[in-house]
Order: sequence, then C-alpha cells, then structure tokens
Amino acid sequence: MSAGLARRGRETTRSGKLVIWKCRRCAALLAPLTGCCPSCGAGTLEPIASAGAGVIVSYRVVDRTQDPVCGEPCPSVMAIVALDEGPWVYSWIDGDVPVRSERPVRVRFRSAQPGERFPVFAPRDPD
Ligand SMILES: [Zn+2]
Repeated sequence: MSAGLARRGRETTRSGKLVIWKCRRCAALLAPLTGCCPSCGAGTLEPIASAGAGVIVSYRVVDRTQDPVCGEPCPSVMAIVALDEGPWVYSWIDGDVPVRSERPVRVRFRSAQPGERFPVFAPRDPD
C-alpha cells in the first residue's frame, strides 16, 4: 500500500465519520481506499463524509484466531457493503450473521487501540 493510500485509510475514520472520496473532475463518489478515479482517471479526490448506511452485497464467515480476552475462537463476518451513496466497501460485520443479504446496515466504530478506531457495520432496522 502506498503512503497515500495508508493516509487515506487513516482518514477513513476521521472525525468519527466514514470518509469516502469525491472526484474533483467528474464528481464520481469512490470507496475509501481508492487511489484515483476509475471513471476519468483523475487523482484529485476530496474527502466527504458518508452517512454510513448501506446494504450487504455479499459476506463470508471468516474463522479467526483465539480471542486473547475471552479465549474463544472468534468467527467473524467479512462483507462487501454497498453504501447508499454508491461506493462499495469491505468491512467487518458486528452482531448476527445477516439472514438476508439485502438487510440494511449502518457503520459504527470500534477501538483497536487508544486513539485508533476502525469501521464495522451492524444490522439496522429498515427506515
Ligand atoms: Zn473522475
């Protein structure tokens, strides 16, 4: 990952918001770790805050190593979430495995270390 993309990854959670990108040339909305606009090729992107709501496009249960706190294996769900704004993001899913793939989800933030937070999505009630 380039330094630019690493910086954009950190900016993903800036100010407690999920940050996506808007192309300054063609106004396309792009996923958080996008390096340049796939529509027009421009590299000038500006960060905008996503509402953090979307639907699960696809997901997979991933077996992870033992949790050092609870001591139990922690299967987790990795999903592709289509944000309401359009971009698709890869993220962990918090809570129950969704029964229906079109179930709406909303972003929330978890702390990995003090001062660092990462986005996860959790099921939400339909509006
Ligand atoms: Zn563009």
